Amino acid sequence: MKFPKNYDVVVIGGGHAGTEAALAAARTGSNTLLLTHNIDTVGVMSCNPAIGGIGKSHLVKEIDALGGAMAKATDLAGIQWRTLNSRKGPAVRATRAQADRALYRSAIRNIVESQDNLDVFAQGADDLILQGERVIGVKTETGIEIHAKSVVLTAGTFLNGKIHVGQDNYAGGRMGDQPSVSLAERLRELPIRTGRLKTGTPARIDARSVDFSKMIEQPGDTPLPVMSYMGSVADHPQQVSCYITHTTEQTHDIIRANLGRSAMYSGNIEGTGPRYCPSIEDKITRFADKDSHQIFVEPEGLNSYELYPNGISTSLPFDVQVEFIHTMQGFENAHLTRPGYAIEYDFYNPQDLKHSLESKYIENLFFAGQINGTTGYEEAGAQGLLAGLNAAKKATGEELWYPRRDEAYIGVLVDDLITMGTKEPYRMFTSRAEYRLLLREDNADARLTAKGRELGLVDDARWQAFSEKQESIAQEQQRLSTTYIQPNSAQAKSLEAKLPQVLSREFSLKDLLKRPELNYSDIVAALPTEHDIAEDVQEQVEISVKYDGYIQRQQQEIESLRRHENMALPATLDIDAIGGLSNEVKQKLKEVQPETLAQASRISGVTPAAVSMLMIHIKKHN
Ligand code: FAD
Repeated sequence: MKFPKNYDVVVIGGGHAGTEAALAAARTGSNTLLLTHNIDTVGVMSCNPAIGGIGKSHLVKEIDALGGAMAKATDLAGIQWRTLNSRKGPAVRATRAQADRALYRSAIRNIVESQDNLDVFAQGADDLILQGERVIGVKTETGIEIHAKSVVLTAGTFLNGKIHVGQDNYAGGRMGDQPSVSLAERLRELPIRTGRLKTGTPARIDARSVDFSKMIEQPGDTPLPVMSYMGSVADHPQQVSCYITHTTEQTHDIIRANLGRSAMYSGNIEGTGPRYCPSIEDKITRFADKDSHQIFVEPEGLNSYELYPNGISTSLPFDVQVEFIHTMQGFENAHLTRPGYAIEYDFYNPQDLKHSLESKYIENLFFAGQINGTTGYEEAGAQGLLAGLNAAKKATGEELWYPRRDEAYIGVLVDDLITMGTKEPYRMFTSRAEYRLLLREDNADARLTAKGRELGLVDDARWQAFSEKQESIAQEQQRLSTTYIQPNSAQAKSLEAKLPQVLSREFSLKDLLKRPELNYSDIVAALPTEHDIAEDVQEQVEISVKYDGYIQRQQQEIESLRRHENMALPATLDIDAIGGLSNEVKQKLKEVQPETLAQASRISGVTPAAVSMLMIHIKKHN
C-alpha cells in the first residue's frame, strides 16, 4: 500500500534528534514527514528532564542559533535554572535547566505541529526501501510504503532495545515502549558496522514520601538565565528548588553485597555504558575508597510528585533498589514510583558516515542521535538538525554543509564521531574543543545565525533580532573606542579607588575595560549619560574587549593551520621525535605515511591538536 504523498525528506523517530531533523528540513522548505511510533511521545525525555550543562548548553545554543527548537522548549519548561562555572571564564560557562517533563514535551509538540511543510504520521518504520545502494523510502509496520528523496534515521535506544532490571530482561525501546526489532534486523543486513551500547536510569520517587528537611535545598540561580536567543525570563514557568542528599556507607554495603544480582555485573549486558554518567554500581566499584556520593533530588514537573534522584541509575533488582534508597537521608520512607533499569541497544559506527551525517554506503540515508553512539538530548538534537538540513539539501540537489571544529561544538561533535568513532556513549565537554574561547555559549548566534539564514534555517523574526543585536554591539564597541575619560575629571575620580592611574592620564573607555581592575558596569556607572544597552549586548562587548588578545591568538592559530594545509611532511620526518603526540596518533601516521598536513588531518584519530603539533615540529626542524 502506497502512502498518498511523496516527500523530500522522511525522518524516522520523534525524539530529540528526530524533531530537530524534521523541523530543520521543513524550515528550509522541503516537504517533510516525521514518522514516529506515537505522536504523544514526540519530544519525550527518556531519562532526567534536564537540558544543558557544561558543553551541552553550548550545543543547545548552537541549535537555537540555527533556528532549532530545544532552547525555546527549555525556556517554556525550565523550573530550576543554574549558571554553571559562573566564576570561571566565559569559555566554560554553561546554562542548565531542570525542566518540567510534560511542559517540555508539549512545547516540542507544539513547535512541530506549528511548522509549515511538516507532516507527522504515527507508525513504526520496519524497513527501508532501497534502489541499489540508494534509499528511496520507508516501509511501515502495517506495510505502508512512503517514498522520499532522503531518509533520516533517529531511532534512539529503540533498535533491538533490551531492558534489564536485575536478572530480568525483556525487549523494549525504553520503559513502556516497544523496541524496534524489524528495522534493526534490516539494518544489520546493510554494509554498516553495528555495535551494542547501554545506558541506565534510576528509580523515581514520590515526593510525598520524602523528608526534605533532612536534605540541602538548592534553589535556582538569580538572575534567572535564559536558553534561547529569542527567549526571555518571562517565558519561564514557576520556579522550584532541587535538593541534595548523599549515599551512605550502608547504601554502599547493600549495593556491594548484591553486585552479583546487577544485570551489568552478572555479565548479562554486553554493551558499554556512559563513562560520565555511571550507574551507582559502577561508582561504588570504581571509586571504592569513597564512602558517600552526592545525589541531586530533582523534580520531574510542577504538576507531578515524581522526583528524579540524579546519581543512582542502576540495573539492580527492584528489591535491592528499595533497600538501598531507604538508607539515604530523607529517603528513609521513600515510595518508588518506577524501578530504575538499564537498556542495551544497537548503534552504528559513525565512522561509516560523512561529515554531513549521510551514510558512506547507502546514498541519501542520514543517521542522527543516540544511534551514532552518543548520549544525551543535546548531542542528539545537534546531530538531528545537521542531518535534517543535509537530507533536505540532498533532496533538492544543493550543496551540503557542516560546521568546522573552529566554528561550532556541532562541528567538534560530528568531526570526533566521524574521524575517531566511539566505543562508549559519547557526550560533549568543553575540553573536546580546541578553540574554546571562540566557541562560547554566549556567542553561538554570532558564529552561526548568518550561516543559518543563508541555509534557509533562520526565520525573519530571528534574523531581525540578530541583526539589531549585532548592530548594537558594533555601536557600543565604537562608543567605547571613541569616548575618553580625562584625568582629574569627575568620572576619573569615581574610578580612582579601583584604578588610581586614571587620574594621571587620558584613557579611552575601551582601554579602561581592558584593565582587569574594572568591568563594564564600573565604567558605565562613571559616565554621566543615561545607559540603556541590553544585557546580552553588554556581555558581548565586555568579552570582546577583555579577551581580545586571546581571541585573536586563537584566530591566528586557525588561519595558520588552514594556510599550512599543503605543507609537505618530509620523507625524513621522525614521527617518534614529535613531542605531545599520543602513541595512537604516532602509529597511525607511521601506517598511513601522509604526504601533506591536510592528508594527515583526514586520518581517523588524528585530531586537529595533533596536526597543530605536527606543523610546529616540521616548521622548527625543516
Ligand atoms: P530517542 O529520544 O530515544 O527517540 C527515538 C524516537 O524514535 C522515539 O520517539 C521512538 O518512538 C522513535 N522510533 C524508534 N524506532 C522507530 C521506528 N522504527 N519507527 C518509528 N519511530 C521509531 N542520556 C544522558 O545524557 N544521560 C543519561 O544518563 C541517560 N540515561 C538514559 C537512560 C535510559 C533508560 C534511556 C532510555 C535513555 C537515557 N539517556 C541518557 C539518553 C537520552 O534519552 C538520549 O540520549 C536521547 O533521548 C537521544 O535522543 P534520540 O532522538 O537519539 O532518541
